[in-house]
Amino acid sequence: MSRDERTLPGTRPLVVGAARSGLAAARVLARRGLLVRVCDASAASERADAARALAALGVEAIWGRDDPSVLEGRDFVVWSPGIPSSHALVGAARAAGLPLFSELELGYRLARAPLVCVTGTNGKSTTTDLVGALVRGSGRPVEVCGNIGRAVCEAVDEQGPEGLLVVEVSSFQLETVDALKPWIATWLNLTPDHLDRHGDLATYGALKRRLFARQENDDWAVWNADDPEVMARRAGQGRSLFFSTRRPVPLGAHVEGDDLALQRETATHSLLPIAELRLRGRHNLANTLAALATVLPLDLPIESVRRVLSSYPGLEHRLELVATVEGVEFVNDSKATNVGSLEVALESFRAPVVLIAGGRGKGQDFRPLAPLVGRAVAHLVLIGEAAEEMQKAWSGTSATRAASLAQAVDLAFERARRRAAGRPPGVVLLSPGCASFDMFRDYEERGRRFKDEVQRLKHQEARA
Ligand code: ADP
Repeated sequence: MSRDERTLPGTRPLVVGAARSGLAAARVLARRGLLVRVCDASAASERADAARALAALGVEAIWGRDDPSVLEGRDFVVWSPGIPSSHALVGAARAAGLPLFSELELGYRLARAPLVCVTGTNGKSTTTDLVGALVRGSGRPVEVCGNIGRAVCEAVDEQGPEGLLVVEVSSFQLETVDALKPWIATWLNLTPDHLDRHGDLATYGALKRRLFARQENDDWAVWNADDPEVMARRAGQGRSLFFSTRRPVPLGAHVEGDDLALQRETATHSLLPIAELRLRGRHNLANTLAALATVLPLDLPIESVRRVLSSYPGLEHRLELVATVEGVEFVNDSKATNVGSLEVALESFRAPVVLIAGGRGKGQDFRPLAPLVGRAVAHLVLIGEAAEEMQKAWSGTSATRAASLAQAVDLAFERARRRAAGRPPGVVLLSPGCASFDMFRDYEERGRRFKDEVQRLKHQEARA
């Protein structure tokens, strides 16, 4: 579909779902003078803020109902990613011949700026944010949006054709796209996740492929050369770029000796020693190389790329260095809500850490991690519902239970400080490997509370 064909299929849309992306879609459509209707299965009383926002827009809102009658008199449907596409309304809309697509697709159709999309199982937010930082650092106008916080439809009217929209794309948004064709699209990795919604890896992988399927030869597709699951699923006519932490790539980004290198068609540019990145860990090296390959078609000045790479601090709650107290480093990795992300966190430290882990388990088996925990953890401080199961699974490593996060921080600090005597300073790592909902509202609250506790120790140190 060329830019000129990116029209909307009518003037009377139904937006399904009145959370962040649904509200953003309703707003952008109402701004264009369309006759918008929004429906949401919750009662208006449960969603007072959304009800007020829609009333202020003058948009028709149907609360507490999402049966097929809401489709009456509608030309097309905009679907919110939070609602599974197995919902009966999807079938009813299709049976009625109504086009149905996601908020991401709506954003694509309305955008004047080209889209740069990043997808994958892990590392999306970090890579998307770093791509945004690299582009911003060169002075080009850019908005970072999508799954990362702002809806795409909130950002579309802020960028003209000279700007860029850098979009974090989840598989949920890809369930309902039909015209989406990003200028640049990046696929980071594929491992089993969200199978409760998508069924199996084949279905989940097929959804991710859709991001690339419509690309043409003036578009770009960035592939992870180290991930056979990604390489086997390459699709579309976009020109290929690659990234790898292990081997040279023909075009894209890789490691050369101890440096990060950009591989252009005619030249290799050595950018920066890996040791000078502020992001830790091999997984973040992969994310950084992915971001570099993604911006290659933009021809950013090498000096500005170097400057951003050497100063980029990463996102909050992802291996975030909080503070050093009496030589002990405190690292907040509250976003590690599953065993896979705990694993990459533990692999990111040279010396054994004092690990605070636990929370609400997700039915994953902790036992396969026992050898790594044995090597990488000096002492365990366990919290939450999963504490007992973790202690059993990692019985070869000494462990203490804590009743609260505050107590866990105190216990871990004691251990790491004791270790510090005569040996390299210890690290206290919060990387729970579990969901937070048994003790906190979400992983962000857990991470903020951890940081508050570290600040408390820092103040005690200052007073001492
Ligand atoms: P996403 O947006 O895909 O969830 P994030 O950048 O927020 O990705 O990282 C989520 C978690 O996944 C982090 O805590 C980190 O431990 C882990 N992670 C990040 N990048 C990778 C990667 N490339 N491979 C494996 N795990 C990763």
